[in-house]
Amino acid sequence: MGAVVVSRADLRLLNTFGISEYAERLVTVENDIQLREALSLARQQDWPVTLLGGGSNMVLAGPVPGLTIAMRSRGRRVVERTADNVLIEGEAGENWHQLVGWSLDHGFHGLENLSLIPGTLGAAPVQNIGAYGVELCDVFDSLDALDRHTGEVCRLDRAACRFAYRDSLFKQQPGRFVILRVRLRLATRPQPRLGYAPLAAAWQALGLQRPDSRVISELVCRIRRSKLPDPAQLGNAGSFFKNPLVSVERATALLAAWPGMPHYPQDDGSIKLAAGWLIEQAGWKGHCRGSVGVHCEQALVLVNFGGARGAEVMALAGDIQQDVARRFGVTLEMEPQLIGG
Ligand SMILES: Cc1cc2nc3c(=O)[nH]c(=O)nc-3n(C[C@H](O)[C@H](O)[C@H](O)COP(=O)(O)OP(=O)(O)OC[C@H]3O[C@@H](n4cnc5c(N)ncnc54)[C@H](O)[C@@H]3O)c2cc1C
Repeated sequence: MGAVVVSRADLRLLNTFGISEYAERLVTVENDIQLREALSLARQQDWPVTLLGGGSNMVLAGPVPGLTIAMRSRGRRVVERTADNVLIEGEAGENWHQLVGWSLDHGFHGLENLSLIPGTLGAAPVQNIGAYGVELCDVFDSLDALDRHTGEVCRLDRAACRFAYRDSLFKQQPGRFVILRVRLRLATRPQPRLGYAPLAAAWQALGLQRPDSRVISELVCRIRRSKLPDPAQLGNAGSFFKNPLVSVERATALLAAWPGMPHYPQDDGSIKLAAGWLIEQAGWKGHCRGSVGVHCEQALVLVNFGGARGAEVMALAGDIQQDVARRFGVTLEMEPQLIGG
């Protein structure tokens, strides 16, 4: 096999939480052939397989058994152009934020609100990444994935991917698909999405007359840097919990007790609550426990002060979930994937 398999590889630098756990075996693949070789080796040896992108949406709960495959295929291209839009395609290992920059450099619009999200293009459909009023599914066209059940490469369109809030087919059927490349349809004219209040305020403060996707991207980066800890300085996996969706009845009861509670009606009739607000109200913001804690600026982000183990992170997360459930009757669901252990 072309790619080298490393035994007992420390994953500390390969996950943004900075958790030091080892992969029993780690292989880096740069193309479909190497990927197929790695999967076939794992099948022959009966090793479980774990896919690794940028490691920015996972908590390592212990050693990762079997074969961990780091997806590092690169390449991006325009595959189709019309007067109004363009179809771009990128390999799974492409860095997401670099792809956003490349699209803006080429005068393509649609990814600016998703600037500075860490990780790879191949992992973006897994949880249907979203930020500042835009989700991946808004610009998604299709992807190629290797179906490990059949060994065939299949093309999946938006409906087939079953995108929902931080959810998709790939979370619903974990381990089945390896995403190889993703196609996005972007506009050739600016289509600013300024529904998110702090972004709208920052845009208005500039007093610009014409929509400018590059400027919107810079504003998004500025807001994100002011709110979220940089994983290079303080290990974290971004939002640790999804914003919970509750019934109108539940939201009404909560609003009677906490009239200032942020709440967002959804198209399906449910109400989205802000997990960060619930955690902050419960008094967890800034909480420290050994090497782990809740970020002092953003209650939705759990952080590693140095040397944290996955078990410590999960114990803290469990206590927060229990406390929020007790106080508000609301279940918080973890957003990152639990890997290993
Ligand atoms: C500071 C910070 C801010 C963040 N902000 C946001 C945000 O605003 N919005 C948001 O949605 N997310 C956010 N995230 C979470 C994260 O960046 C995204 O979920 C990102 O898409 C994860 O990409 P990754 O390559 O790091 O995936 P990884 O963490 O490596 O993997 C995540 C999951 O996808 C699987 N996977 C990886 N590659 C593939 C592949 N090619 N095929 C199939 N499965 C694969 C893995 O096995 C794992 O289950 C943030 C994270 C951090 C650390």
